[in-house]
Amino acid sequence: MRPLSGFLESEVVVKIIVDDDLCAGHAQCEDVAPEVFGLNDQGKVELLMEDPPESLRRFVDEAIQLCPVDAVSFAR
Ligand code: SF4
Repeated sequence: MRPLSGFLESEVVVKIIVDDDLCAGHAQCEDVAPEVFGLNDQGKVELLMEDPPESLRRFVDEAIQLCPVDAVSFAR
């Protein structure tokens, strides 16, 4: 089976979600994965790519680990 979008992890398509209510604008996510995360005019995280290619996955993983308020996660 071929995924339509997102990462294939044990045949489950994984997308990224962000919680801008939690976001404190530290920008670590943007630093490690600028193709995927940015900051909007209010200084809150903005998801630039909901279903990034597998080649960016390690950077997204790192961004999730680095976010001090757990505002970034995978949706399943
Ligand atoms: S690292 Fe977390 S708190 Fe900082 S901008 Fe990204 S989502 Fe927001």
